[in-house]
Formats: sequence, structure tokens, C-alpha cells
Amino acid sequence: MSSPEEPLVFLGAVVLPDRVIEDAAVVCVGGVIAVVGPRPAVEIPVNARVVAAPAGGYVGPGYVDIHVHGGAGADYMDGTAEAVVTANRAHAGHGTTTIFPTTTTGSRLQIEAMLDACQAVQGRWQAADGARIAGVHFYGPYFAEEKVGCHLRSGRRDPDPREYMAHFERGIIRVATCAAELPGAEAFYREATRRGCFVTCGHSDASWSEMAVAFRAGMRHVDHFWCAMSSVPSIRARLGTPSQGSMEQFVLMHEEMSTEVIADGCHLAPELLDFAYVMKGARRLCIVTDANRALDMPPGRYRFGPSSDGEWFESDGRVGFQPGAGLASSVVGMDTMVRTMKEKTRAGIVDAVRMGSLTAADRVGLAAEIGSLEVGKRADVLVLDAVLRVKRVFIGGTEFTR
Ligand SMILES: [Zn+2]
Ligand SMILES: [Zn+2]
Repeated sequence: MSSPEEPLVFLGAVVLPDRVIEDAAVVCVGGVIAVVGPRPAVEIPVNARVVAAPAGGYVGPGYVDIHVHGGAGADYMDGTAEAVVTANRAHAGHGTTTIFPTTTTGSRLQIEAMLDACQAVQGRWQAADGARIAGVHFYGPYFAEEKVGCHLRSGRRDPDPREYMAHFERGIIRVATCAAELPGAEAFYREATRRGCFVTCGHSDASWSEMAVAFRAGMRHVDHFWCAMSSVPSIRARLGTPSQGSMEQFVLMHEEMSTEVIADGCHLAPELLDFAYVMKGARRLCIVTDANRALDMPPGRYRFGPSSDGEWFESDGRVGFQPGAGLASSVVGMDTMVRTMKEKTRAGIVDAVRMGSLTAADRVGLAAEIGSLEVGKRADVLVLDAVLRVKRVFIGGTEFTR
């Protein structure tokens, strides 16, 4: 068992936010990155524990996932510390070292139980618990009725300050979603922005003008691009002619807006992953797993959201789906998604890794601490093989073992 106190040195091709340094060293002391550079120029402490990447492999940053529902049979909305740890451990095995457990639609009590469980796990975290919780993504329940997707429809509602003020008051919510067209959305965005949250619009049929109001209130991101969001035809069906802009045009037109893709190869075809990357760039496009409890589980029937009353879906081992109704989020980890972006788009390894790590860290305001292998940041380090399979995972300088 390693301890963050003994110097830890990683050797191999090191993936930085703007380049790969072949034959480099990353020296970590006290769980923090102390030196990064070409190997001959770096002094290796004599008592250091040395970890070398396999031949042709890489040393990269731990991944950061801002939109994720569960794994290994557990959904965060199960509302127990055991479920939270089970999911966090599963994602750590896929390279995620910082995680934002994400709420679904559900009752206020179910959301409170989820927040309680995440706070308990965050407060007593150790490396064996897996990915570290940096905050909760308050995602459901403020979705548009016709865009709930695989979420339980009866669990959606309009934003209610009596509810969300109490949730925000806990201090654990760092990402906050609401559909922009709902009554009360603007006040929700303003409050979330005031509290330092990264504010996003999702499960929404918002028009351009509704997005413009939301943007002025602090909204800067759209959840899972091209999934459960508006399009020009959907806005025409809702508001008539002349055809108006939708969330899609608003994100593509505004440099300050970011978005995210579920890069499992099942939700979006390669040309759409590539299109999103080319149009927004690696600084404005995050990879998210949006993974549900069927990650690392055999094909079968599972509940999305709370184990007691979440919507049923099926997993075929590649993706979640509801027969006759469409997809129901992913069942693979960040490792698979980063690899898909590298192999199926023109992103290359540097930008593919960046979209799975630094981009999200930067958008949520944590880039000074996590997201890349740079001096002063936490020693969240992955050892990857030549095709980006995760071989070893270090969180804060301590190795995570499954
Ligand atoms: Zn969703
Ligand atoms: Zn989701």
C-alpha cells in the first residue's frame, strides 16, 4: 500500500494539456505534483517509489466526470453511502478520479437522501472509496415535461425556491441544471450562479430567446449535446414560424458556451463527435459518461434513478435503452469514451485526454487543483497502455486498487 508521503515518480510518455513529452518523469511529493519534465532533466529522489508506464503506454491525468448516475449496480439516487461508494469505486477503475454524482428526477426526499449520502462519503473519503466527490451535479428534477427522456416523468417539476434553496444551503452542489423555458428558471440560474455553481441547461426544448435570458442569468453549458435538447424543428413545432434558433445554434454561436458529449459510440455517430469537437474545441467540449448503474454489470433490466421507483431500462452491455423509446444513458466508463474520441475523431490523444479531464475541471472552477499533470496540482495520475486502457490509478498520490 502506497502512502502519499513517500515520493512517487511516474516514468513514460506524459500527456499534458497541450503536448505529449516522450520519456518524461512526473515527481509527486505529499500527494501533490512537484516536478514534470523530460526525464534527463528531472532529479529522481533516491527513496522514491517508481511507477513506469508499459511499453508504448502513457502517464496521464485522472479523469473528471461532471455528469454520471452510477455504476456496478448502484445509482447515486439509491440514497445510501454504500451505493455512492460502489459507484465511485467502479468509476475509479475506469480512470475517473474526480466525480460529480448526478441527481435524476425524483421526490424531494429522494434527492435529500442522495445529498446526505454524498456528503457523508465526501467527508470521510479515502483512496479505497474510489473517485473523489468534488461536488454534486443537481441535474433532475427541473426538466421540461416533453424532454424527460429515460427519467421518471412523475418525478419532474418546475423550479421551486423553497426546495432548491435548502439544497444549495448544504454547500455540496457545484453543477446545477434546469430547463431554460420553465417558469422560475431564470431565478434558479441567478441563485446557482451567485453560489458559484457551474450552470447548465438540459432536458429542455428552449428557444434561442429563452437561452439568451438564461445566458444573462449565468447559464454557460448544455447537457449531453443532441440528447434531450431542442432543435430548429422542435422549436418550430412548439412556437411556429418563422423558424427560430434552438439550444444547438445557441451553443455553436457563443464562444462562452460549453457542452458535453456521451462518447460511447452508441449515442452519437463518429461524425457528430467530430463535429462537436471541431466546432467547440477541446476547451469547450467535455466528455461525460452519463453512466448508469448497468456499468460493469451483465446485460439485463435495471432501474434508472432510485432503486425503489426509477424508470426501467435495458442494457445490452454496450448502452442503456428503453425498447421503442430510445437510449437510456451509457454503460461504459471514461476510459472507453476518451479512447473513442481519440480513435473516431480528429482530436488526437492530447485533446481527447483533455476533454476527459481538464476541460471539465476548468468549467467548474477546479483547474488550479485537478485536471492535468502540472506542478502544484493533486497527484491524480493514470498509467495507460498504448491504446489508453487504464492499468493503474493513483488518487492524491495513493494507488486505488479494485
Ligand atoms: Zn440526461
Ligand atoms: Zn444524465
